[in-house]
Parts: sequence; structure tokens; C-alpha cells
Amino acid sequence: MKDLTQIAIDTAVQRGASYADCRIVETQTEDITVRNGKIGALNHSEDLGFGVRVIASGAWGFACSSRVNREEVAHVSAQAVQIALASARLKSEDVRLAPEGRHHDCWQTPFLIDPFRVSLETKLDLLLSIDKILRKNPKIKAAEANLSFKREHQWLATSEGTFIDQLLLRSGAGYTATAVEGDDVQVRSFPNSFRGQFMTMGYELVLGLPLLENAERVREEALALLKAKPCPSGQKDLILDGSQLALQIHESVGHPTELDRVMGMEANYAGTSFLNTDKLKNFQYGSEIINLVCDSTVPNGLATRGYDDDGVPSQRWHLVEDGRFVGYQFNRELAHLIDASRSSGNSRADGWENIPIIRNTNLSLMPGEWELEDLIADTKEGIYLETNRSWSIDQQRLNFQFSTEIGWEIKNGKKGTILKNPTYQGITPQFWRSCDAICNSNYWTLWGVHNCGKGQPSQRAEMSHGAAPARFRNVTVGVRS
Ligand SMILES: [Zn+2]
Repeated sequence: MKDLTQIAIDTAVQRGASYADCRIVETQTEDITVRNGKIGALNHSEDLGFGVRVIASGAWGFACSSRVNREEVAHVSAQAVQIALASARLKSEDVRLAPEGRHHDCWQTPFLIDPFRVSLETKLDLLLSIDKILRKNPKIKAAEANLSFKREHQWLATSEGTFIDQLLLRSGAGYTATAVEGDDVQVRSFPNSFRGQFMTMGYELVLGLPLLENAERVREEALALLKAKPCPSGQKDLILDGSQLALQIHESVGHPTELDRVMGMEANYAGTSFLNTDKLKNFQYGSEIINLVCDSTVPNGLATRGYDDDGVPSQRWHLVEDGRFVGYQFNRELAHLIDASRSSGNSRADGWENIPIIRNTNLSLMPGEWELEDLIADTKEGIYLETNRSWSIDQQRLNFQFSTEIGWEIKNGKKGTILKNPTYQGITPQFWRSCDAICNSNYWTLWGVHNCGKGQPSQRAEMSHGAAPARFRNVTVGVRS
């Protein structure tokens, strides 16, 4: 593979590129779904291809192919230079890349059990056992259990002398029960909505999750929701569980801190941001206990890797420190816009056929000091919400509304009756400023988001957000219509 990437680089440089990189990507995926006792999906796919990205006359060019051989690599590389030269005629200024060292490295996701070597029979047995428990009551009209695995082998070479060989592996598992009575449709999921929990791990993720152990509870909660009273409306103290907070972080911190959105470069895909660069180090994002940290090195994160697709090593840095907004997520190309001497390493592409763009890495809310029991006991009148059901947030990432699968009333420090169809809404900085308590690291979990869409043409990326339950004061809650 190294020889092939070298052909791409040499061809591009000979034809006048001032920078070139070549990424060869080999992907293997397996997705298994059992729906109402039957196999709903059984997809196994393998894919190999490469992309060449160059800068010539100060402009980007990109070309790619699924035919991985010497002639095609040279041909595609020459094509990328031609595209760069053509687009240079329309450029407003030259592309500038922040300096980056030369890296020669091999990196691999640590794992114990290769999920692609676990038999299909074992996997189906597990999903069918879950399905059986979920459908024990006829009011459960839909049960769905999933397993998902992905292995990605990447080789990246740049004209600056970097060569990186990375092997990334992730697993996912989860299920959902849908209870129906008349017009009322209630859903419970485990361990999270969006097809479950996803981590960079092997099959040990599936073995470690208490999937069977929770199936009965999930079924009973879905049924109980049919009879539950609706969530009250008004201003309430809110405790969000970690998985809901993960999505809150993704939408109201992750996306608005992507520097390409801030600069208006993503605007045509509902992607701008209220976080203009005047606010950097000059804006109260949240209360003083809010620390939001990007970390592409954290164990098991979906964006955890050795290097990004610009060949920049993984890093850890604050976006929000003690409530203050202190950092963005960016790449080599945009670093100069905020006077950063180096990229934060956020450049990633979906497969070989796309150009890398700025993507969220793993971004987490740091844990606080509280025991969950004490936090509930300390809340006189509030609501505890768990597991996302839907979300919406405006282009600027300011006004949001989320609904969750389930809520519980908190009265005089006690978790009481369950509530159906809860929603809450807010404005990003006001919401984060209202946080006055975060549970400790024993409650902290890294939740995987495996379906983040961005860019045109649209690209999918995966990342994780860690959070422990936290309390937000005086939040507007209501009922999902
Ligand atoms: Zn997203």
C-alpha cells in the first residue's frame, strides 16, 4: 500500500502540486437486525478504494477511485492536479496549511475479541433471546434488536513525508421496544436510542453490556408509559441522564464549535453557528462547573485514533473551561483564522471517496462531585429525563427542543411516578449556565454517536460524548405533541 501512495504523491508533485496526500481505505462492516422474531437485516459489506487530495496553484483538487492499482493511482492523482488547477481560477485566496510534523506510525484500536470472527449463530441467538423477552406482552407491537461492527484500515501518505497505517475497529449493540395502544405509541430503548451503544472495542462490548438483563425492564417501562400521565408544562428543575446529555452536548456544543460552521463555510447545509470568533476566550458558555473537553485519545471513543485524515496526531483540549468558551474544533486549513499555530486534529473523511472536513471528535462534559441519589434528594420539585427520542435545533445552534422516551417526577427529593412524552427547550448558553450540579465519575459514560451527518455531498461520521447526569435549574418543560 505504501508503494501505491508514493506513486500518487510523486505523480502529483511532478505535475506541479505544492502539497499532496493519498488515503487508501479498506472497510468491512456487518449489521444484523432482528425485528419481531425475524431477521430484519443481515448486511455484510467490504469496500476498498483511495482518494488523492492535492493543492496546486493554491487551490484544492480531489479525485478518487475504487480500482486500487498502480496505473489507476497515477491517473487519479494527475486528475486531482487538473481539478486543482481548474478550481484555482475561481479561488479568492491561496489555501494555507498550518505546519505539522512528519509522522511515521502504526496505530490500532485495542480490542480483545474480533467481532468478525464471532459466529453469526451466536449473534443471532443473542438478538432472538432479547426479542423473545421484549415481545412477551402483545401490546409490544415492534421489537428491534441490533448488532453492528465496522473495521476500517487506512493508509495515509503526504508529500511532507508522513506515512500512517491505522486500523480502527468499533462495535455496537442495542434494542428498542415499541408499545402501542390506540393512538398512543411509546418507545423504550437500551442502552440508548439510535440503535444502542457504540464504542471502539471488539465483541467484548456486546458481552459486557447487560443486554438480556435489562430487556424485561425495558418492556415493562414501554408498557407503563402507555398508562403514565403526561409530563407537566412550565419551569422545572431538570436532571438529564448521561445519554440524553450526550446528544445535548453534540448538538449545542459540538456542532457550534466547528470552525468551518463559524466561518460560514457550511452554511448551505443548515450549518452556521452563534459562536463567532469575537467570543473566543470572551464568552460565558455555561456555569463555572462546566468543563467541556475534546479528546481524540480517550479509550473507546468512536473518534479515538492515532491521527486525523490530515495526519495530525490526536489531542485533548478544552472547548469550555470553568464555564468560559476557550476553544474550537478545526483543521490545518483553518488554523490561521484563529491564529492557532497547529491544527486541533479534527479533519476526517467518510471513507475513501470523500474529502476530509472538520468533524466533531469525542467531546465530553467532565464529571462533578455528586452522587445521583443525593442530587435527587436535593431537588424539591423537578423532573428526571432519560434517553433521547427526538431533537431540533436552529441553524445557529441556539434555540433547541429535545424530547426523551421517559421522565420521572421528582417531588420533595424523591423520584416518583413516570411521565410520558416529555420535552424540554432552551437557548444554548442560558441552558448551560443553569447547570448547578453534575454527578461524579462513577456515573460518567462515553456515549457513541454513529450517525452524524455533515457536508455536501453528505458525509457520515462517528464520535462519542461522555457525560454523567446533571441538574439544570428552571428549564421550560412540556409535552411532545
Ligand atoms: Zn451531528
